Amino acid sequence: MNKLLLFISLVGTISAKDVSHEWESFLQEKYTPEVKTADSYRNYTTEAPESVQQFYHDNHINQTLAFVLKKKATYSSLDKAQMSIWDVMDYLDSLVDESDPDLGLPQSIHAYQTAEALRKDGHPRWLILTGFIHDLGKVLAKFGEPQWAVVGDIYPVGCKPHKKVVYSEYFADNPDSDSPLYHSKYGIYKPGCGFRNVHFSWGHDHYLYTVLKDHLPEQALYIIRYHSFYAAHREGAYTYLMDDYDKEMIKWLTLFSQYDLYSKDPESFDVAFLRPYYEELVAEFLPETLRW
Ligand code: FE
Ligand code: FE
Repeated sequence: MNKLLLFISLVGTISAKDVSHEWESFLQEKYTPEVKTADSYRNYTTEAPESVQQFYHDNHINQTLAFVLKKKATYSSLDKAQMSIWDVMDYLDSLVDESDPDLGLPQSIHAYQTAEALRKDGHPRWLILTGFIHDLGKVLAKFGEPQWAVVGDIYPVGCKPHKKVVYSEYFADNPDSDSPLYHSKYGIYKPGCGFRNVHFSWGHDHYLYTVLKDHLPEQALYIIRYHSFYAAHREGAYTYLMDDYDKEMIKWLTLFSQYDLYSKDPESFDVAFLRPYYEELVAEFLPETLRW
């Protein structure tokens, strides 16, 4: 058992940040080409940290259609706070400061790394901005949401979970598995209905999409809304729920995920030097404050 897991088991609680960090490290190992081998494909479920497995158990048994609809109703009113992008970025960093900084990079460093990698490759300004802000929906933790309703992979609810969803075996204990309708291939949906007509497990993707939906280009919103939908954009699952729009747009998810996973790089950034560029970029697309 590594030091982090020992600490977690002693304390008896796992913060959203710990799971977020471990999950993202796990994703990086699973999907980064240099470390992906046939063996790691076969064994990843048992090699993942125990906290990640526990996290997915909690996530998969609790994310029912009823739960998702309740969260959408709670958060669609955007009446929880009025904050700037920078307020949220600072808040997410303060979560990391609460424990050992060696355990994970602050969220803002992940933001700068993702955005700088996009910038270095000459991508358009809206895409650099998307990289910079894509994880800010994790502010849900500030509003008291448990980690299994903030971070991790997302997937459709109200229909049978695809085998390609990570740890799909845990869905057996989800109450929706007892419903013949919710456990059928299409569930409450029509074949080819399009992801925008599908309810997804609740987390930071859809929440940030809700906050930003009137402000960014559709490609940016699509990336923000589905960037954690690994079963589709990395595993090719759920094509039967896609419409032509998804088939056109999913290429952005594939592209983006390469930059999202390019994190945890030891290269440090001079944040003070970079900040003016990002202040200008944020101000170009977004109002000074947003409703959250
Ligand atoms: Fe994310
Ligand atoms: Fe990310």
